[in-house]
Amino acid sequence: MPPKRKMRDDWLANEDFSPWLSRVEGDPEKALCNICNKQFNAELSTIKRHKTRKAHITNEEHWLQNREELRDHRDDQPENLHINKGVALATILMVYFIAERNLPFTIADHLVELCKVIFPDSVIARGSCLKKTKCTEITKALGKCVTNELVGKLKTHKFSVVIDESIDVSTTKCLTVIVKYYDFEASMLKTGTLELLNLYDNDTMCWINGGPFT
Ligand SMILES: [Zn+2]
Repeated sequence: MPPKRKMRDDWLANEDFSPWLSRVEGDPEKALCNICNKQFNAELSTIKRHKTRKAHITNEEHWLQNREELRDHRDDQPENLHINKGVALATILMVYFIAERNLPFTIADHLVELCKVIFPDSVIARGSCLKKTKCTEITKALGKCVTNELVGKLKTHKFSVVIDESIDVSTTKCLTVIVKYYDFEASMLKTGTLELLNLYDNDTMCWINGGPFT
């Protein structure tokens, strides 16, 4: 009985086999096709025969197609980086638009879909995805950024504080803390909302921290 062949490095390096051929752990007499997930004898004639099999050819075509699609969608591709930045900016501007005009967050569900219909040739519109929950979370994050910027200004600018009690659309009682200061860079008087404190806990029906009169 002739000695069995063992896997050779030059077969693994051969560009005809390298995309799919690999060793079988612990069995040097076997070869593995990663695409078909099939083992066979580590013989050159067997490897060549596997490459010509119809099932392998079909599997390799699908594998190459998937690899191309994955490459196209990889975030670090220069073209995709440009699109991702555009999508991120478009998302922030849409959230900013909704928040600034006090529109309901549920409008986000329809706004993005509308943009996709209006701009069918835009890859940024096609790549955008914004629903109510995401819109709410981005608004909170943007709100923190705006507050941090305002706090930074107040560290170097004199300001006055105005407080007022208000009720939001969900009838939650709030204490609004507004600051007024003169912005030297913009050469104008500015007003900003520093904090919005909930005063009344609707679940326990109690004032939080003793309410506004303590
Ligand atoms: Zn195969």
